[in-house]
Amino acid sequence: MERKVTRLVDIGGVKIGGGESVKIQSMCTTKTSDVEATAAQIGALASAGCDIVRVSVLDEEDASAIKILKSKCSLPIVADIHFSHKLAVTAIENGCDKVRINPGNIGGDKEINVVADCIKAHKIAVRVGANTGSIEKQYLAKYGRSARALVESALCNVNVLEKRGVNDIVISVKASGADLTYQAYSLLSERCSYPLHIGVTEAGTEQMAVVKSSAALGALLLNGIGDTLRVSITGDPVREVVAARRLLRAVGLDNDFVDVISCPTCGRCQWDVISLAGKVNQRVETVRKPLKVAVMGCVVNGPGEAKDCDLGIAGSAEYCVIFKNGDIYKRVPAENAESEFFSELEKIIND
Ligand code: SF4
Repeated sequence: MERKVTRLVDIGGVKIGGGESVKIQSMCTTKTSDVEATAAQIGALASAGCDIVRVSVLDEEDASAIKILKSKCSLPIVADIHFSHKLAVTAIENGCDKVRINPGNIGGDKEINVVADCIKAHKIAVRVGANTGSIEKQYLAKYGRSARALVESALCNVNVLEKRGVNDIVISVKASGADLTYQAYSLLSERCSYPLHIGVTEAGTEQMAVVKSSAALGALLLNGIGDTLRVSITGDPVREVVAARRLLRAVGLDNDFVDVISCPTCGRCQWDVISLAGKVNQRVETVRKPLKVAVMGCVVNGPGEAKDCDLGIAGSAEYCVIFKNGDIYKRVPAENAESEFFSELEKIIND
């Protein structure tokens, strides 16, 4: 797929845009000034595959805590700030790699100038944007709660920074529905060449959030739009990272993983393929190797349907067959099938 090449922006050594890989983001749910809890959560997010993490900055303690977090954590840190130019300056001076602000809500010209100068002096990036709850009044009045209003509102904030010489900008235009999110980012992509942070806002609890995000962000990514993403979930942020990783794999933007294909089963299936498929998925979840593995319900159709797989298993009530690239490699009694298959799986993972 051809991706839109946007302006390259560096976030603490992690590159967004410019044809770089799509970066995964999430946000801590801890109080930022609780540095032990926040550092532990950032560590868990990094282990799950997160590239950039955002923290809330509600007060001076949160802003100052960024210095300690930077010394304890490996991920670039984005400070999320509303309504206070002073907190933005403190967060930047304490080493945040990017600020998430909307210039329109941090004060007047004088305050915006102070923050813009601080951003430039520390050579950090900034994310601006709009979501359906924060559209600037004039655009809401003119265009209603629409893709156009989101885009105009975001670009208005971009313009405030551009006028002050800030150009390392990432933009977001989030809605809580997949349709409006898709329309807004598609329009925004036509209107600018800044890298886009794509996401659905207030997407809900895990299952629905993943479906909504997959619909909106999946469609955008398949159209070459999006430089960094967050799958917002009401729940443990590690689940956001897992979902984002899976989404990038599903759309072909991350091929360095073990793709496990398994059939939906039907009346021909006479063994517990569901349990084995679950165990295989769990084993390979974090393995970085481009392999294809199949777990199929029956020996009649399984090997043929999965002939492009490096390794596969198909079963019956009495025996299973293990196959490699479509050729039967071994026939094993059903009771030994799981251990035999895992031993072959370990061989190709560690090869
Ligand atoms: S592989 Fe066999 S068990 Fe699985 S869906 Fe196809 S026919 Fe049914």
